Amino acid sequence: MADIRPKRGKDKFPEGGPLYLFDKFLADGRIKFWRCDRKGVCKAWIHTADGRVVKRLNDHTHPGDATHIEVQKAVISLIIYMVWLTISCSEFCH
Ligand SMILES: [Zn+2]
Repeated sequence: MADIRPKRGKDKFPEGGPLYLFDKFLADGRIKFWRCDRKGVCKAWIHTADGRVVKRLNDHTHPGDATHIEVQKAVISLIIYMVWLTISCSEFCH
Protein backbone atom coordinates (compact mmCIF):
# COMPACT_ATOMS: atom_id res chain seq x y z
CA MET A 1 0.00 0.00 0.00
CA ALA A 2 1.10 3.52 -0.67
CA ASP A 3 1.97 5.61 2.31
CA ILE A 4 -0.70 8.28 2.33
CA ARG A 5 0.63 10.26 5.26
CA PRO A 6 1.74 13.70 4.18
CA LYS A 7 5.48 14.16 4.33
CA ARG A 8 6.83 17.51 5.34
CA GLY A 9 7.99 19.53 2.38
CA LYS A 10 6.94 16.90 -0.14
CA ASP A 11 3.24 16.51 0.41
CA LYS A 12 1.51 14.33 -2.10
CA PHE A 13 -2.13 13.50 -2.41
CA PRO A 14 -2.70 10.10 -3.94
CA GLU A 15 -6.18 9.80 -5.31
CA GLY A 16 -5.99 6.34 -6.74
CA GLY A 17 -4.55 7.84 -9.88
CA PRO A 18 -2.07 10.55 -10.67
CA LEU A 19 -0.30 12.11 -7.75
CA TYR A 20 -0.95 15.65 -6.69
CA LEU A 21 1.68 17.84 -5.17
CA PHE A 22 0.74 20.27 -2.47
CA ASP A 23 0.92 23.79 -3.80
CA LYS A 24 -0.58 26.22 -1.33
CA PHE A 25 -3.30 26.93 1.17
CA LEU A 26 -6.31 28.95 0.22
CA ALA A 27 -6.67 32.20 2.12
CA ASP A 28 -8.69 30.69 4.98
CA GLY A 29 -5.91 28.17 5.67
CA ARG A 30 -8.27 25.19 5.62
CA ILE A 31 -8.53 24.39 1.93
CA LYS A 32 -5.41 23.07 0.25
CA PHE A 33 -4.55 23.45 -3.42
CA TRP A 34 -2.93 20.44 -5.06
CA ARG A 35 -1.52 20.36 -8.55
CA CYS A 36 -0.94 17.26 -10.69
CA ASP A 37 2.68 16.14 -10.36
CA ARG A 38 3.06 16.22 -14.15
CA LYS A 39 3.34 19.94 -14.27
CA GLY A 40 4.06 21.29 -17.71
CA VAL A 41 1.88 18.66 -19.39
CA CYS A 42 -1.14 18.68 -17.14
CA LYS A 43 -3.27 21.42 -15.66
CA ALA A 44 -5.37 19.33 -13.30
CA TRP A 45 -5.89 20.72 -9.83
CA ILE A 46 -7.84 19.64 -6.81
CA HIS A 47 -8.86 21.42 -3.65
CA THR A 48 -9.07 19.46 -0.44
CA ALA A 49 -10.43 20.22 2.99
CA ASP A 50 -9.76 17.91 5.92
CA GLY A 51 -8.22 15.35 3.58
CA ARG A 52 -11.21 15.16 1.25
CA VAL A 53 -11.49 16.43 -2.28
CA VAL A 54 -13.92 19.33 -2.41
CA LYS A 55 -13.26 20.62 -5.90
CA ARG A 56 -11.63 19.54 -9.14
CA LEU A 57 -10.30 21.79 -11.86
CA ASN A 58 -9.35 20.61 -15.33
CA ASP A 59 -8.97 17.03 -16.48
CA HIS A 60 -5.71 15.16 -16.66
CA THR A 61 -4.15 15.31 -20.07
CA HIS A 62 -2.40 11.96 -19.64
CA PRO A 63 -3.30 8.46 -18.53
CA GLY A 64 -3.38 8.09 -14.77
CA ASP A 65 -0.96 6.02 -12.76
CA ALA A 66 -3.92 3.76 -12.01
CA THR A 67 -2.95 1.94 -15.21
CA HIS A 68 0.30 1.19 -13.50
CA ILE A 69 -1.52 -0.30 -10.52
CA GLU A 70 -3.63 -2.48 -12.84
CA VAL A 71 -0.44 -3.78 -14.44
CA GLN A 72 1.02 -4.53 -11.01
CA LYS A 73 -2.15 -6.40 -10.06
CA ALA A 74 -1.94 -8.46 -13.24
CA VAL A 75 1.70 -9.29 -12.54
CA ILE A 76 0.89 -10.35 -8.98
CA SER A 77 -1.95 -12.59 -10.23
CA LEU A 78 0.45 -14.17 -12.69
CA ILE A 79 3.02 -14.81 -9.95
CA ILE A 80 0.34 -16.39 -7.73
CA TYR A 81 -0.76 -18.55 -10.67
CA MET A 82 2.82 -19.67 -11.36
CA VAL A 83 3.37 -20.48 -7.67
CA TRP A 84 0.10 -22.41 -7.68
CA LEU A 85 1.19 -24.30 -10.81
CA THR A 86 4.53 -25.14 -9.20
CA ILE A 87 2.84 -26.40 -6.04
CA SER A 88 0.22 -28.40 -7.96
CA CYS A 89 2.86 -29.84 -10.19
CA SER A 90 5.08 -30.89 -7.32
CA GLU A 91 2.08 -32.78 -5.93
CA PHE A 92 0.62 -34.28 -9.08
CA CYS A 93 3.25 -34.34 -11.78
CA HIS A 94 5.42 -37.04 -10.33
ZN1 LIG B 1 -2.43 15.16 -14.43
